[in-house]
Amino acid sequence: RAKHKGKNNYQFYDAHMNVHTIERLSFEAQLRRALENREFVVFYQPKVSVLSGKIVGAEALIRWNHPENGIVLPTQFIGLAEESGMIGKMGLQVLDIVCRDIAQMKMAYGAFGRVAINLSGAQFNDPFLLDELQKVTEFWKITPESIEFEITESMVMNNHEQAIAHMDGLNAAGYTLSIDDFGTGYSSLAYLKRFPVNSLKIDRSFIQDMPADANDTAIVLAIVAMAKTLGLKVVAEGVENATQLDTLMSCSCDEYQGFYFSKALPFEEFMVLLESTNLS
Ligand code: C2E
Ligand code: MG
Ligand code: MG
Ligand code: MG
Repeated sequence: RAKHKGKNNYQFYDAHMNVHTIERLSFEAQLRRALENREFVVFYQPKVSVLSGKIVGAEALIRWNHPENGIVLPTQFIGLAEESGMIGKMGLQVLDIVCRDIAQMKMAYGAFGRVAINLSGAQFNDPFLLDELQKVTEFWKITPESIEFEITESMVMNNHEQAIAHMDGLNAAGYTLSIDDFGTGYSSLAYLKRFPVNSLKIDRSFIQDMPADANDTAIVLAIVAMAKTLGLKVVAEGVENATQLDTLMSCSCDEYQGFYFSKALPFEEFMVLLESTNLS
């Protein structure tokens, strides 16, 4: 098609395509190398009780410790990992690291709440997920009760019968489930009731402009009330200031995460924060 526009146009089009393809291929090659060299690390963001202010859990968030560029955030590479079929292998590395850290946490700290792991659609639908989970938890001698999986609304709404079967399987094995980024997808309340999940995480976009934005505040209050009626725990994501936390207290939201308390931290730093917060 570009050919009809003349030689120069064609060359420009072609060159542009090549730069794009080369960049993508080199990024993909770097990701593959990163998987082989185990360049991925996991940071932990505390989940905090709104009522007590104590740390009651953590979310595991992948980071790429790039040899030249330093720490790279998942928004830069999760999409490509999913498109290029690398997300399964990447997810297994995350699982291995998290289980190792949970084992160490138990030794150092004793009983501790759950660590939440984000699942991609491909992992959630992988028929071997349960087998892999059994292998890695047995290896690190930890129980499924110490792990929670975060899945998104879109992952369960596309094929909800199959999704419910996967959720039931994970629940039966002892894992807990939560719906991440709640409010941004298309879950209908009717289905929500049928999903075997333990908690909802209200998306950061609703928390951000609270309480100044009356609509967002109303949505958050409604989600908390609805979740309580359905017997679900509610977690607010992206809490950045005291006013947002006050609003969450006023509606009895259960837990929160956000920069106001702490960003995601390397394991050792998380452990220091855990001990100073909870043992004081
Ligand atoms: P998410 O699961 O919704 O994670 C919450 C994101 O919000 C994290 O970004 C976290 O650092 C950030 N965040 C937490 N508190 C605040 C706050 O107060 N303000 C702001 N502005 N941001 C806050 P992160 O670590 O960059 O992760 C982005 C997304 O990448 C995650 O969103 C999740 O969807 C995905 N992800 C992270 N780790 C994994 C993983 O191991 N596997 C998979 N499949 N996806 C992952
Ligand atoms: Mg999450
Ligand atoms: Mg989230
Ligand atoms: Mg989010």
